[in-house]
Amino acid sequence: MTDKFRVFATCDIGESLDLLRRRGYAVEVYPLPEAPPKSLIVEKVRSGVDGLITTLRDPVDAEVFEAGRGKLKVVAQIAVGFDNINRADANCYKIPFTHTADVLTEATAEFAFFILGALARKLWTAEHLTRDNQWDYWHPYLPFLGDEVTGKAIAIIGTGRIGLAMIKKCAGFDMNILCYDPAYQNHEYVKAIQETMDLRHARGICKEKNWIRYVTLDEALSEADFVSAHVPLMREGESSTPTFHLFNETTLRKMKPSAFLVNTSRGPVVDEAALARALRENWIAGAALDVYEKEPLPPDSPLRDPVIADRCRLYPHFASAGKITRLSSDPEKGMAGRTVQGLIDVLEGNYGGDITKMPYVVNKEAFGK
Ligand code: NAD
Repeated sequence: MTDKFRVFATCDIGESLDLLRRRGYAVEVYPLPEAPPKSLIVEKVRSGVDGLITTLRDPVDAEVFEAGRGKLKVVAQIAVGFDNINRADANCYKIPFTHTADVLTEATAEFAFFILGALARKLWTAEHLTRDNQWDYWHPYLPFLGDEVTGKAIAIIGTGRIGLAMIKKCAGFDMNILCYDPAYQNHEYVKAIQETMDLRHARGICKEKNWIRYVTLDEALSEADFVSAHVPLMREGESSTPTFHLFNETTLRKMKPSAFLVNTSRGPVVDEAALARALRENWIAGAALDVYEKEPLPPDSPLRDPVIADRCRLYPHFASAGKITRLSSDPEKGMAGRTVQGLIDVLEGNYGGDITKMPYVVNKEAFGK
């Protein structure tokens, strides 16, 4: 049994919390499905919790860290993205925060690929046609056709964990791949993908020879049939290549009029007003979105305009929402398990208490010698 630690979770993350309870932790869970008000998080932290479990909906900044001064030891976030946590403030208060990278990589990438397919092949429109009894005949091209993905070029914007997984899935669909990432280029991976493409062609598995290469952002945007964003949300001042409104009027206009945009990264990476205009005025052919500037998507969002409904697919921040990915208590498989393990590592001083060695801690820089 561990000395009793107190933990407040801003959301139920399932049976993984029992792992903490079985270790003698006192765990309190915010009972409602929506996010608690920030004032409640501050109040709970001020009441003396050792660990705080957060979701991407919770703003965590100096106010929270100040409330936990002297007691709060860790913030464990159930997400890979942590743009809701002020890293500079966490570092200032020397509070480690953890995330759940890796375990959601494949689920997020496959979802990005599926919504790309749903958009390109008009699955939503086609199902409505059938359900609404509008399917009157089989015809070679009426009432509409979709666009195949096979043999097309996709631009992967951000070749980190999820971008690389998306590349693997696109390669399986015989797509050509343009990669763009100003900070991290995995040439070994790209070379290996090219080798598999060459082998599939040589062995007669693929008729056409596919290709993959790193390019500039302009080349990626102007040459791709599909553009898929896999970047973290970084605002001005947080990165030399911020991603806030990376997709704006200028960059959207660089895409082909026949091209599709897919965003499963973070909503503010896309300027939604510009995108809605791009769709209305046919600068691009369509968009599939999982994330929004404001979540849940407001009723008056221009993305809900019925005029663009046939070419704008909208999903509820759902990319990692697979059963195992979200809830497995195995830290090698599930976000919940990884969140709990990250919390335990810090509170129980695993890795000899050396925070820089704890695999799920993000802000290791605050704890170096
Ligand atoms: P990662 O850190 O492994 O990869 C991100 C990559 O983006 C890095 O290689 C980085 O160099 C690159 N990058 C940074 N700035 C860029 C720029 N201006 N242009 C192009 N590339 C840039 O992260 P990951 O695990 O692949 O996750 C990516 C993001 O996806 C997360 O930060 C999160 O916000 C989002 N995400 C969303 C969901 C969802 O449910 N929709 C699920 C998981 C992750």
